[in-house]
Amino acid sequence: MLSKNLASEINTQIKLELYSGYLYLSMAAYFEANNLPGFAHWMKKQALEEQEHAMKFYEYLNDRGDRVILQALEQPPTDFKSPLSIFEQSLEHEKSVTARINLLYSIAVKDNDYASQSFLNWFVDEQVEEEKNASEIVEWLKMAGESRNTLFMLNRQLAERGDD
Ligand code: MG
Repeated sequence: MLSKNLASEINTQIKLELYSGYLYLSMAAYFEANNLPGFAHWMKKQALEEQEHAMKFYEYLNDRGDRVILQALEQPPTDFKSPLSIFEQSLEHEKSVTARINLLYSIAVKDNDYASQSFLNWFVDEQVEEEKNASEIVEWLKMAGESRNTLFMLNRQLAERGDD
């Protein structure tokens, strides 16, 4: 069993990962509605990845003999300004997820819970990747500026995101 504190924060984390997926799916829906199917594809993959993250925490709680308690999800934003503002928002969101993972890690350290530290290492590495991916696309979109051509090129490129 985990400490009460860590088990409760992991339950909250399950909600946050599912909410991330919900947020990215809402962003995908905006892209679908704005004729950018490549961007929508990228966001749908991202949403699926977040569900997988939630499931990793779900399985971990069960593996350690703790009880999963699902919490209510808020409605994500549905209206966005531009592709750039969406990716800026995703980057900010990923930074807040990183802060959450660091919080979980600090609890595991305080608890002398080495198994949880080892489990969380995967998420520490994953967050480096997530922030890198989002900020890369932010930079591309800044370079694209008002150019529709560059936006459509990016749309084609993001359509190629596979399973990662
Ligand atoms: Mg995640």
